Amino acid sequence: MNVLVLNCGSSSAKFAVIDPQTRRELVSGIAQRLGSAEASLDWKHNGTRQTRALPGAGHDAALRAVVEMLREMGLVSSLVGIGHRVVHGGEQFSGSMLITSEVVAKVEACIPLGPLHNPPNLLGIRLAQELFPGLPQVGVFDTAFHQTMPPVAYTYPVPYEWLERYGVRRYGFHGTSHRFVARQALALAGLPADDHAVVTAHLGNGSSCTAVLNGRSVDTTMGLTPLEGVMMGTRSGSVDPAIIAHVARQGNGTEQDALDALNKKSGLLGVSGLSNDLRTIEQAAGEGHARAQLALDIFCYVLAKHLAGLVVPLGRLDALVFTGGIGENSTLVRRRVIEHLGFLGLTIDPDANDTHGRHHQGRITTSTRPQALVVPTNEELMIAMDTVEIVQGAAVSSEH
Ligand code: ADP
Repeated sequence: MNVLVLNCGSSSAKFAVIDPQTRRELVSGIAQRLGSAEASLDWKHNGTRQTRALPGAGHDAALRAVVEMLREMGLVSSLVGIGHRVVHGGEQFSGSMLITSEVVAKVEACIPLGPLHNPPNLLGIRLAQELFPGLPQVGVFDTAFHQTMPPVAYTYPVPYEWLERYGVRRYGFHGTSHRFVARQALALAGLPADDHAVVTAHLGNGSSCTAVLNGRSVDTTMGLTPLEGVMMGTRSGSVDPAIIAHVARQGNGTEQDALDALNKKSGLLGVSGLSNDLRTIEQAAGEGHARAQLALDIFCYVLAKHLAGLVVPLGRLDALVFTGGIGENSTLVRRRVIEHLGFLGLTIDPDANDTHGRHHQGRITTSTRPQALVVPTNEELMIAMDTVEIVQGAAVSSEH
């Protein structure tokens, strides 16, 4: 009982065929640089990586190539559904949904909120409907997990009409990852499903942190867009919005240019002047590069401030979960953050941290309440699990 998971971006399409019951990934890959002469299809199957040039291919040609490949592998007939990652579900979706024409219309209505992501997500849905007629398709939304936030967490202190007229509020992102790792953490830390206070830190190129109370998101750091919150690879995270007008007035550019710079030229890249990649920053800081060191210091400091802030809606902390490329791999960031948060009762276990908690059920602290854990995320698996659940539910309800 396999699921094809699709994540269509503006110039790429990631895919994976997963058996949610065994949690096995049968094949995964990415078609990237779509629309250019360098377009290619890279995939991993039976432990080997392969690549194929698809010069000039757009999403359409790339997905057709993927389907052809899955057919040759004998996987198409095993599919029970297709799970799509959809970035912005606005206030329309509080959970994953079977895709119908009504759902497509609602995703279209969310385009103003996710102008860069929702159009390619919709394109992926349309192409998959065409390529797999009759196969159920499920939308899994980055924003859905955060729809449980109370008004005090999602309402910005701005003119209230902005919320009513323009949908200006905190939506939050990375919901699929936060939901997955919070669930895993309960099992690892032996926390009860109906009584836990967990903070999850998804730290990748884009980063966000979430407060999870008894399985529900009660606050998160990203906002209307993924720009808000902690410092990221190229995004500034939260800054004074007046910076935008000030820089536009002082420099040559427009306010849009300044906003673009907050998204694409800030964060680790902006401060260090070197790279958005934390590995490069850590190495340069180790070699004495002052601005790389400053970027690293700010990254850990700002992250710790946000994590501490997320304990407020929880009232206590049982577990702090690190995930994403940085959260799963950077011993340095985890150690520095836990040191900042020592006042909460977290104490690092250096050996466990060095081995990413692998031999300690994920735990990297000597303290157990609260404890910090490393939990590898798996958004594709979560999407596949949701898809099977919804497809099976739909089959059962259509039998009655
Ligand atoms: P994305 O948000 O694009 O999915 P990832 O979750 O893959 O990003 O995270 C990418 C980040 O993880 C990069 O900043 C990278 O430097 C960092 N990273 C990956 N491996 C390591 C490592 N061993 N040590 C420190 N940082 C790492």
